[in-house]
Amino acid sequence: MSWIDPNFPKTAEPTDLVGRVLGLNPGMFTGPGTNTYLVGRRHPILIDTGAGVPEYLPLFADYLARRGFARPERIILTHRHRDHLGGVAQLTERFPGISVAKMIHRDSDLPPGIENLLDGHVVAGDDVTLVPVHTPGHASDHLCFYLPEEQALFTGDLILGGSTTVIPDEDGDLGQYLDSLRRVQALGARRIYPAHGPVIEDAPAKIQEYLDHRMLRERQILEALGGGARTIPEMVEIIYADVPVALHPAAGMSVHSHLKKLKNEDRVSEETAPAQPSRWTLR
Ligand SMILES: [Zn+2]
Repeated sequence: MSWIDPNFPKTAEPTDLVGRVLGLNPGMFTGPGTNTYLVGRRHPILIDTGAGVPEYLPLFADYLARRGFARPERIILTHRHRDHLGGVAQLTERFPGISVAKMIHRDSDLPPGIENLLDGHVVAGDDVTLVPVHTPGHASDHLCFYLPEEQALFTGDLILGGSTTVIPDEDGDLGQYLDSLRRVQALGARRIYPAHGPVIEDAPAKIQEYLDHRMLRERQILEALGGGARTIPEMVEIIYADVPVALHPAAGMSVHSHLKKLKNEDRVSEETAPAQPSRWTLR
């Protein structure tokens, strides 16, 4: 995937209220790496912590010094995935006593001391307010943060700059994901700060594009089923004909997320057999 841009700036100040430090963890799923955002004028709130890459800490410290920030006031997390939460340990060691919060939901092994952050419980900083919005689908504990002062939305992994979001087999749910997109659409945000990739200036267009993309996939899957495809590999071969075979397993996960949604809606049925891929049919 070409969205791993080696020239993506390691730090940036998109606006007076928002600074960005890159997590330095590039990869197929993380693009140029995880964006960690500092929100506020003097005592900023940190959103996400990256993966815990050692080089992040000096980059982060330099950035704080350059901006004249003593330390982040507190840390809030979009969700539990390693590339967002992995830096908590090194940051709590560096800034003893700092508060760390996320929505605690189906979590098993969180770092100690993480507080629970609920939907709608506003986090106030200096000159900024961040409103947590529960947006499951990519992860069941996922929060976006709405910044009314800019009509901007920190989308975590709900919406990315330069790729589509993975709906993992385990904890993901495409139906919930689409509901979450519609929920943030209703907030009327103008700008999006994604957890991966560049700032998105036209939020309504991007949200609509994400919804349209999933609707297109759903139509393609229904067509493939109508044409006689039965298994996920058969559907992937038809729908992702122009995508490198190396990416077909990820595509298969995406097709599966659609089929689970359609099954929940009683539009397809699944026939399982041991050691064989499920066979899917239209109802
Ligand atoms: Zn994630």
